[in-house]
Amino acid sequence: MADLIAIVGANLAGACAARTLREEGFNGEIHLIGAEPHLPYERPPLSKELLLGTSDPVRIQVQSEAEWDKQHVTLRLSSTVVRIDRASRELELADGDRVRADKVLLCTGGRPRRLALPGTELDGVVHLRTLDDALAIRERLGPGRSVVVVGGGFIGTEVAASAASLGCAVTLLEADDVLLWRALGRELGAVLQRYHVEHGTCVKTNTSLARIGGSSRVTHVVTTGGERVDADLVVVGIGIVPAVELAEGAGVEVANGIVVNEFCETSVGGIYAAGDVANHPNPFLGCRLRLEHWQNAQDQGTAAARSMLGARDGHREVPWFWSDQYDLNVQMSGCNQPQDKLVFRGDPTTRSFTAFYVHAGVISAVVGINRPRDVSATRRLIEARHVVDPAQLADESVDLRKIRSDGQWLPGRLGAKNGGPHMKKSASKP
Ligand code: NAP
Repeated sequence: MADLIAIVGANLAGACAARTLREEGFNGEIHLIGAEPHLPYERPPLSKELLLGTSDPVRIQVQSEAEWDKQHVTLRLSSTVVRIDRASRELELADGDRVRADKVLLCTGGRPRRLALPGTELDGVVHLRTLDDALAIRERLGPGRSVVVVGGGFIGTEVAASAASLGCAVTLLEADDVLLWRALGRELGAVLQRYHVEHGTCVKTNTSLARIGGSSRVTHVVTTGGERVDADLVVVGIGIVPAVELAEGAGVEVANGIVVNEFCETSVGGIYAAGDVANHPNPFLGCRLRLEHWQNAQDQGTAAARSMLGARDGHREVPWFWSDQYDLNVQMSGCNQPQDKLVFRGDPTTRSFTAFYVHAGVISAVVGINRPRDVSATRRLIEARHVVDPAQLADESVDLRKIRSDGQWLPGRLGAKNGGPHMKKSASKP
């Protein structure tokens, strides 16, 4: 049994792992090391409630400092690990300090992808990844401010919705021809896109930035379509790059993140990984993937802790995430496939409906717009891979919790493709 476990990344995955180690009876030392100065916090509110002012830095903490103390977790905040010394079983910190570790869990997450353009260094050109990023953006939002958002993924659409709700004039640029297509598929992406437009956001698709203008502070941008748009603030949300340097330096296998097995073990004994950075096998989908969502961070952090203590139950989840944009709660579970057909329950032109991605009667994914119960009821059907009747899915009078399989079983159907388009897929099979 290890008597010192070091967790690199004081984020949700790392925090859940630390907490689980204690809950599972580990009584050695736990060092939770994070580069940010803040106690571990949850990221989903950063682009929503934090910007809207309906939450604050304390409310988003995973738990209070007193609780960390009670659990005897040593928090090393504002600390960056620069090297894993496998020979001496130590971590080297940027300030020269060293931490001994019998086992190491890497929850190193990712960094915002940067635009390679002159002008990105100007004041007012920002990314949103951390609490400090969100607080700085919040300062600059308000009635009459001009905000350009680059990237129509989750960060981009959530920031755009928050900024528009606060009275900003918002222009949202997306490189593809529809917002959120990777996550939701084109048809549902178009539904969300219409909603943004109805709320006054100027959405420009097939468009990116050509230039960012200003002297010390950004004043405007020029799009790839040649248009000039005024900007007090430019928020860039064009994805993240997994932070794999530490793992690479320690000789750990890396490919679209840190490669782990179902027990969160990397290719090097004693080193584990979890959260946004972990490229893991998903038994329900039959492929490897990397998920950058809250549920995965929480569940994989927990699973990694249990693995480090010798449990062999592993990490197995049907992916699930949510987004809040204006008065829409969007939830998705599963992983849609190119061959799927959409089956709607409810009217997709309204603010409350469910869409099932179905092929040969098997549901691969579900998206609920203001219908969280439908999504949770469908997760069970996705997991079971049962064949269901699309007419029942579409029929509002049928209780989704009561739908039964017709007995036909289609093992491996979801494994036909390598995850849905919104997953950060890997070429290799688990
Ligand atoms: P993302 O979801 O990967 O979306 C990035 C978007 O930017 C894509 O639509 C991409 O288009 C577009 N894009 C890329 N380069 C561009 C360019 N030069 N100009 C204009 N558009 C460009 O990444 P994200 O929104 O930055 O979010 C980061 C991660 O955090 C994601 O994995 C996201 O899922 C996660 N997150 C999750 C939630 C949630 O669960 N609610 C909320 C926030 C963030 P292409 O797809 O065509 O490349």
